[in-house]
Amino acid sequence: MAQEMRIVLRNYGKIDPLKIEDLGSGAVFVLDETRDIVDVVTRIAKFFEHESCGKCTPCREGTKRMHELMKKIRNGLATEADLALISSLGNNMKKICLCGLGQAAPIPVLTTIEHFKNDYITKLPA
Ligand code: SF4
Repeated sequence: MAQEMRIVLRNYGKIDPLKIEDLGSGAVFVLDETRDIVDVVTRIAKFFEHESCGKCTPCREGTKRMHELMKKIRNGLATEADLALISSLGNNMKKICLCGLGQAAPIPVLTTIEHFKNDYITKLPA
């Protein structure tokens, strides 16, 4: 797990302990191996669904669908097609949501699917 965290941080490139302000409005979550990363991201998806102002459809509907899909994954009811769908949804939201909230909403989902794929795969029914 610690190795995976280092990879995540390295991908942001500019992080320096003396220049943490480079994160801007970003966030760093430090979790130990006892936490279920899929559950954590499901909670974040719920937050973004709640925070969406509803002005534009990609965010209003996207955050709702993303939260639904994350609950489905967390509860062991998703398929590989759902993983592909949530990735596609997230990439579209990044491009077409009207403001930074909607554009940022899918980032926790997309980055954890990229860096913690096994945690998602193990949630799929056998
Ligand atoms: S992207 Fe911004 S403007 Fe669009 S619904 Fe979300 S919060 Fe509102």
